[in-house]
Amino acid sequence: MSEPVVDLRSDTVTRPTPEMRRAMAEAEVGDDVFLEDPTVNRLQERAAEIFGREAGLFVPSGTMGNLASILAQTRPGQEVVCEAAGHVYNYEMASMSAIAGVLPRVIETEDGILDWERIESAIRPPVYYRAQTAMVAVENTHNMAGGTVYPVEVADDICDRAHARGLRVHLDGARIFNAAAALGRDVAEITRGFDSVQFCLSKGLGAPVGSLIVGSRDLVDRCRPIRKMLGGGMRQAGVVAAAGLVALETGPGRLAEDHANARFLAERLAALPGVGLDPESVQTNIVIYDVSPGGLDAETFLEEARRRGVLGVPVDRRRVRMVTHRDAPRAAVERAASAVEEVVREAVR
Ligand SMILES: *Cc1c(COP(=O)(O)O)cnc(C)c1O
Repeated sequence: MSEPVVDLRSDTVTRPTPEMRRAMAEAEVGDDVFLEDPTVNRLQERAAEIFGREAGLFVPSGTMGNLASILAQTRPGQEVVCEAAGHVYNYEMASMSAIAGVLPRVIETEDGILDWERIESAIRPPVYYRAQTAMVAVENTHNMAGGTVYPVEVADDICDRAHARGLRVHLDGARIFNAAAALGRDVAEITRGFDSVQFCLSKGLGAPVGSLIVGSRDLVDRCRPIRKMLGGGMRQAGVVAAAGLVALETGPGRLAEDHANARFLAERLAALPGVGLDPESVQTNIVIYDVSPGGLDAETFLEEARRRGVLGVPVDRRRVRMVTHRDAPRAAVERAASAVEEVVREAVR
């Protein structure tokens, strides 16, 4: 009997739990475009409460949450400062330009973490013949930098100083609960300065679908018609919101386990001469490592790993990403570590 595949491509691969499926089957529903779906309303209220905000808005994806937040707080021809490896710049179909009509002004960093000094140097001077900076977009945890976490003081400082310059600050908090778990702080506390926050239910929290935007009542009232314009007005969405509520209540408490598994994987891999990785750099559930010291490129490495039942994704030609999650418990992560060891040993032999 062959063992099941260990899928570490992303924490999005988690399937709904029996508890979620039960909640979905039993969900009370209505037409959410008429604001009449009680389960969606409850999810939005609960998210706002957890984040200490006035309101929340359920959206089909994180990509739509980021775009609606940008559309609500910028005008065409303005600029949005963001990090060069960020999701909003690289993995959202250039929507901020194609749809919102704004120009991303990117800043390169080593670890995905922006600070005010670097942001300030990217702000356009206030002259009428230059495009004006409208917003700063921050990503916490930073996906492609390997799940790195913003220190709370750095995030607060960015928000305070951006506001003093009249800029809006958006948080792409797809994995903000991972950041909170790593810091041992509440999401409300670590996101308090941001004007808009987008977070995903469908990543480590384990829901099948959905994200939320949280912020002031005014922000959410602006985002709701934008969501409709983008085709994200859903009808009996309570069926999926029900799973989202379970994810929101039960998901955050078990993320520390994913982080411990990521650290375990990182320590096993860092011990291999064919792998470039500092296990100390793994702060949450994302492990990015270089397979070129063993003479492999990312595609060849991943093909060999796949033959051994383990999946990851390439970051670039040399580096590979693996993400731990609820559906890959410690035993599965141990198998993944052993498979990687085998691939790398055979390559260097
Ligand atoms: C996954 C993700 C998103 C949103 O992705 P969707 O697939 O559109 O839900 C946004 N930002 C980051 C950092 C992500 O990892």
